[in-house]
Amino acid sequence: MSLLKVSGLSKHFGGNKAVDAIGFELRPGELLALIGPNGAGKSTTFNMVGGQLPASGGSVRFDGVELLGMPSRKIARLGVGRTFQIAATFASLTVLENVQMALLSHHRKVYSFWRTAMPRYRDEALRLLGQVGMGEQAGRACSELAYGDVKRVELAMSLAGSPRLLLMDEPTAGMAPAERNALVGLVKSLVVQRNMAVLFTEHSMDVVFAYADRVIVLARGKLIAEGTVDEVRRHPKVQEVYFGTGRTFQAKAGGAVV
Ligand code: ADP
Ligand code: MG
Repeated sequence: MSLLKVSGLSKHFGGNKAVDAIGFELRPGELLALIGPNGAGKSTTFNMVGGQLPASGGSVRFDGVELLGMPSRKIARLGVGRTFQIAATFASLTVLENVQMALLSHHRKVYSFWRTAMPRYRDEALRLLGQVGMGEQAGRACSELAYGDVKRVELAMSLAGSPRLLLMDEPTAGMAPAERNALVGLVKSLVVQRNMAVLFTEHSMDVVFAYADRVIVLARGKLIAEGTVDEVRRHPKVQEVYFGTGRTFQAKAGGAVV
């Protein structure tokens, strides 16, 4: 039974068919990679599913409920999370406080004196930080963390809403290869532990092939391939789009892609 069912999803910017009638499904406990060259329509797809951008047509059903036309806040409350970057204004807060704020916001509590309301989310925040391997650094200011650790805190914050589906558009942007592997490996373990569905984009094919359960490939707004890592890696259209005909992923193993 699929949790997310996308069909005929389209977005036209004037004459530019940025996303052209694509369809795919996502099941609970599945890590699905959405890959494709720059400008393929990946972010546009994320923004339509998350409600940040109105679609030109099609359908996005989450647990049977149509999301198109719904405000993003309502979509989030249904259980569709997305990673969001720690706002500059929150960088001075501690790691723990940032996650407590995310919990506060999820429970939609509005306090004039939020610092007095924070203790009630302390245990839950520490539990989430433990899940992303940041428990030891709970008391540090986010401003002094290494980049990869900031990304872990952001992941803990996005888990504060207990999402059943998490949308991650380039979660490892700006990271070194080892950090990319560590973050996506962590996401993969959370997918299994929480039986959560995750849709993500990632530029490193090594990382995609190491962790994704399935892969869908976009090129110029069209879905050109879909399948397991092995199926997609061998797919002639994918090889053509990425490397030109006659070359293979194997030939470029380890190389930067896209
Ligand atoms: P990707 O994330 O795969 O790199 P995008 O979804 O950002 O691709 O973009 C897909 C296409 O849509 C591109 O041709 C881009 O120029 C166009 N596009 C994206 N956002 C807008 C916008 N707000 N207005 C006009 N064109 C846009
Ligand atoms: Mg993008």
